[in-house]
Amino acid sequence: MAAGPFLRCTRCGSEHSDREPIWHCLRCGGPLEVSGLLPGPADDRRSGVWQYPSMTGLHDARTIVSLGEQSAPIVPDPVLEGVSYHLQQLSPTGSYKDRGVSVLVSKAKEWGVRSLVEDSSGNAGASVAAYCAAAGIKATIVVPAATSAGKRAQISAFGAEIVLSRDRGTAATVAAELDATYLGHNWSPYFLAGLTTTAPEIVARSGGRAPQWIVLPVGAGTLLLGVHRGMKMLAEAGHLAELPRLLAVQAESCAPIADAWRTGAPDVPAVPVSRPVSVAEGIAVPAPVRGAEVLAAIRESNGACVTVGDAGITAATRRLALQGIFAEPTSGAALAGLQKARTRGTATGSALVVITGTGLKTLGGATPAGCGR
Ligand SMILES: [Zn+2]
Repeated sequence: MAAGPFLRCTRCGSEHSDREPIWHCLRCGGPLEVSGLLPGPADDRRSGVWQYPSMTGLHDARTIVSLGEQSAPIVPDPVLEGVSYHLQQLSPTGSYKDRGVSVLVSKAKEWGVRSLVEDSSGNAGASVAAYCAAAGIKATIVVPAATSAGKRAQISAFGAEIVLSRDRGTAATVAAELDATYLGHNWSPYFLAGLTTTAPEIVARSGGRAPQWIVLPVGAGTLLLGVHRGMKMLAEAGHLAELPRLLAVQAESCAPIADAWRTGAPDVPAVPVSRPVSVAEGIAVPAPVRGAEVLAAIRESNGACVTVGDAGITAATRRLALQGIFAEPTSGAALAGLQKARTRGTATGSALVVITGTGLKTLGGATPAGCGR
């Protein structure tokens, strides 16, 4: 296939055209990635994700769907030495998902999609609903029944239709019934491409270097993957001397990636096991689509994986709030994970904790979400 952005299957390596809607490999059903992207130059007339258009795979800047994303600030912890926070909850819909969804919906617009179906535990659904509203695309969001009331209300406010997966089956099935296009964010190569722009933003805000460790709450693991790929692109282009190590944090009750990492397995089990629930609903993902890629990224970065329980997550979330950072429990899990890792002598260097979503999302009380849906 010609040089320039194209789609490649991460499982079988086959290449696919990026000129029409596609969400997975047409040969083996595996997840796709956008290949042939470059890490720059930055477009300083824009901010946030669109400051790095060459990393997105979009062909036509006229189809950009933006809600004014900004570059997320980094602030230091007032007490913990070497710890700082990347405040990605300060985005248009209150979560880091906007960075990837802006690219996903822009690509859908480039493809001429009129009606789109997404499946999400909440934050991504709200983000897709918002960007589809801005793009004039009809959005249908398939959610698990345990999704918190705040997240459901946000999705509805943007005019999207909510469908419970319990009632209607998978999002791909719903899309076929509605004659709509399924573009789930966990599968979308464009969502992942958008998240790679997190890397140059962190480096630009850290004086041209990366922190020694980046700490991320991990459910599907797409943000971790995006950060790692973005950092690799910077390193390969000679813009970064050393890759940051990645600390992946999962909820104890739903930790397929941590389990696989501990046993040295190359992928997560194909059949998810139903287990107890977690307050960190954003990372209760039993069968991550890109599990093998996420495990490879953690290992390649010389990183680590830890799990945290609900008590630790709640305490860390409160600690963040008492220093002025209103984060959802999923983000508190990342800080709890860093604290646990440090008690074991890991991640003791400079560490950047990514705050992924605002506490406003769970104001009605976090609904513990099941792992096994
Ligand atoms: Zn394939």
